[in-house]
Amino acid sequence: MVEIKSDAALDAMREAGRVVADALAAVQDAAAVGVSLLELDEVAHGVLRAAGATSPFLGYRPSFAPVPFPAVICASVNDAVVHGIPGGYRLRDGDLVSIDCGALLDGWAGDSAVSFTVGAARPEDAALIDTTRRALEAGIAAAVVGNRIGDIAHAIGKVARAGRYGLLEGFGGHGIGRSMHEDPHVPNEGRPGRGYPLRPGLVLALEPMLTAGGRGDYRTDPDGWTLRTTDGSRAAHIEHTVAITEDGPRVLTLR
Ligand code: MG
Ligand code: MG
Repeated sequence: MVEIKSDAALDAMREAGRVVADALAAVQDAAAVGVSLLELDEVAHGVLRAAGATSPFLGYRPSFAPVPFPAVICASVNDAVVHGIPGGYRLRDGDLVSIDCGALLDGWAGDSAVSFTVGAARPEDAALIDTTRRALEAGIAAAVVGNRIGDIAHAIGKVARAGRYGLLEGFGGHGIGRSMHEDPHVPNEGRPGRGYPLRPGLVLALEPMLTAGGRGDYRTDPDGWTLRTTDGSRAAHIEHTVAITEDGPRVLTLR
């Protein structure tokens, strides 16, 4: 079921989104060569706690997962695309890091992700991140009244394919509101003019996941969560929570 939110609910979701944005900014500030992913998780957890927010990630256990997710961020490094469990791994020079974070505040959810490099970036990683950002921006630009889900999917996929990147097969964005994952599903590739019509008060998490290898297929780590590219190529994942309004897209997780 797709839930349409009131203006007051959008304002409340902006507050949840702001906590996520602050957590991601703090994590990116803290990320440096030698810092562990667990330490980054602690940084994000501190921001959530200070804001009186809780984590929709911590303890999350969808049907595919063998164990509840043990952290407040997903930390996916290099060939890990999404859902990486933050552990003792210490960041190295040139790593490409994707951090996904959610927050629940006053009963509303926010969901956002960033990709960045640590130390000296490889030019191909900078290009991958830049294209992922542009794919998200194209998706946001298509999140307007009168369009449909397929218009967002098409906009994201077009930018990714123009860069000859892969899209993580079967994964995409989602509705969001009182819980982190709501209907509708938002594919990262699709046909314009198709799917659910975009109406004011619909809130979507848009999240292109691009792989440097063009195929976009993946395997799951023995931990049951971390998804890695099959070809070992690097990946980027950038996400914002976006409300469709009469005045155009409103990004609720903007920093
Ligand atoms: Mg997310
Ligand atoms: Mg999401």
